[in-house]
This record gives sequence, structure tokens and C-alpha cells, in this order.
Amino acid sequence: MNIDLRPLPLALAAVVLLTASPAFTAPSQPAPAKPAAANTSAPAEEKLPPVLAPEQFFGAAAMGYAAAKAVPHICHKLFCYCGCDITDNHTNLLDCFTNFHGADCHICQEESMVALKMARDEQPIAAIQKFIDENYSNKYPFKEDSPAYKKYKSVRQYTTSGATGAPAGAAQGGSGGETCCAGK
Ligand SMILES: [Zn+2]
Repeated sequence: MNIDLRPLPLALAAVVLLTASPAFTAPSQPAPAKPAAANTSAPAEEKLPPVLAPEQFFGAAAMGYAAAKAVPHICHKLFCYCGCDITDNHTNLLDCFTNFHGADCHICQEESMVALKMARDEQPIAAIQKFIDENYSNKYPFKEDSPAYKKYKSVRQYTTSGATGAPAGAAQGGSGGETCCAGK
């Protein structure tokens, strides 16, 4: 009895070892491939709404749409000071060029062209925001900041020097004659 039983457990152990060892080595091999595959999808840009085709416009309008189409990711981070945040519920400059709003508003057009020029000069987004704010915030036609304007101010990438309040300039009191949208 004793003699007959011994070979069986040994044989079983051998079978277990043989079948188990491939199972242990197999999972370790595909593992290194996974991180490489994951990296390819990582830098995906956030989806932005498409800009209308510039070819259907003329003059400054065509240039404005072309500029927005060239640097939509920058226009997405800029505020449009023409007043379209109130009149058209826009939240950023890109919104002006995903529809026909930008066709007859020279403030939107100028801002997008400035954005393109500064982007080509390899200026960082913070510098572009600062330049736009300093040169166009005096066009903003409303006395109080809209929720969209407040939100932009909270996320823009540069910090204003000096006081935390509104810019010291008396721009708000300027004539509204240049705005294209506030009079509606
Ligand atoms: Zn606008």
C-alpha cells in the first residue's frame, strides 16, 4: 500500500509545476506594451467647436475667421470684449467664429488676428491674454462684468500687477461708439 501511493503525489506535483509555470510567466510579457499604447492617446486636445470656413467672407472678416481657424485653441482662452458675452451668450473669442457673429464685428476680428500674430511670434498664452485685455477691455460695453467675464478673469493665466481690482484705467467711461453689439 505505502509503496504504491508514493509515485502518484510526485507525478501530480510535476504536472502542477509544468502547467503552472507557463501561466505565471505569460502575464508578465504583454504588460510592458500597455504604457506605450496609453501614451499615444494622452496628449489629445480638448474638442473645440469648428470655425466657419473663411472663404465665404471678405476682407477683415475673412482674415478674422482665418485667424480663428489657425489658432482656435488660443481664441478659446481669450475673452471677446465686443459685448457678445451678454448679447450672444459667448464665453470666449472662439464662439464669435463658430457662427456668423464675427463677420461684422471688428473687435472680434482684431482680437483673433492679434492672437494669430502673437502665436506666430511664439508668445505664451498668458502674454496674449494680457495684451488683449490691456488693449480691448476698454471696448467692453457693460458697466458690470458678466458671469462669463468674471469666469475668464478667474482663469486667465497672468496675474495683474498691483491692486486686485479692476484696471486703473478710466476705460469704462469711454464712448461706446466703437462697439458693434451692445446697441442691440
Ligand atoms: Zn465677439
